[in-house]
Amino acid sequence: MYTRIFRFAPSPNGYLHLGHAFSALLNQDMARAAGGRLLLRIEDIDATRCRPEYEAAIYEELAWLGIAWEPDVRRQSEHFDDYQAALDRLEAEGLIYPAFESRSEISALVAERDRQGGWPRDPDGVPLYPGRARKLSSFERERRRRAGDSFALRLAMDAALARAGVLTWTETGAGPQGQTGVVTAAPQMWGDVVLGRKDAPASYHLAVVVDDALQGVTDVVRGQDLFWATAIHRLLQTLLGLPEPAYHHHRLILDAAGRKLSKATSATSLRELRAGGATPGDIRRMVGLGR
Ligand code: GLU
Repeated sequence: MYTRIFRFAPSPNGYLHLGHAFSALLNQDMARAAGGRLLLRIEDIDATRCRPEYEAAIYEELAWLGIAWEPDVRRQSEHFDDYQAALDRLEAEGLIYPAFESRSEISALVAERDRQGGWPRDPDGVPLYPGRARKLSSFERERRRRAGDSFALRLAMDAALARAGVLTWTETGAGPQGQTGVVTAAPQMWGDVVLGRKDAPASYHLAVVVDDALQGVTDVVRGQDLFWATAIHRLLQTLLGLPEPAYHHHRLILDAAGRKLSKATSATSLRELRAGGATPGDIRRMVGLGR
């Protein structure tokens, strides 16, 4: 029998807030309604921001909320080999390339382009890659890699788009402008995104796609802030020959001033709310899933 597989995939770089509670509860509710399974994945590839105490708090608070995930939590930091294998495949196909500019060199290039009449930003507001590393000869690339220079591995977006053709996904939730049903992906709005770095063979985009496939995820239920990133995920799935899950982007929980919640604000952290006497039922009601 075909069993649908859902996942909740928090990053342990702060305490969970009401937005995470909503996402976890919605995943659980949808998995139950579908007679499916719920997995938990810890997205901890960014060693500079992730901490063991935040990971411990994730398990504790999700259990308190009544979330029942299956054992064998996947921790991304334990699977760099899987991401490296995906990078190797993309590199062998000429779809990624090393770019050696430092962050400050990139900022200077963007400032220059902005002065010349403006330079595009991606959906997160980050300037598209303005560099020319794609034009480096293979001899020069090898020389710099051997010299130990830092680099980012970037997707050659034009080549990737030519390979993948027109991409769509099935949206059962809604995008920020109400997009639903079959949505056309526009990965070009992200430019030559970073998929790995010299010291870390993974980016969020690469790891999420590889893991969803390895874990057999059929249904990705997550916040609307990741709606546009889905275009990159569909592109990578296609380039790597991975299956296509269904996507459900849900509304975001906002604070009283209408802003997206942040892990830096303690007022809406589950930890604080719990310490202040809130029950799991109160949390359900606060995020609009109350009964
Ligand atoms: N780790 C991401 C976050 O904490 C979620 C990734 C996903 O659901 O695709 O926002």
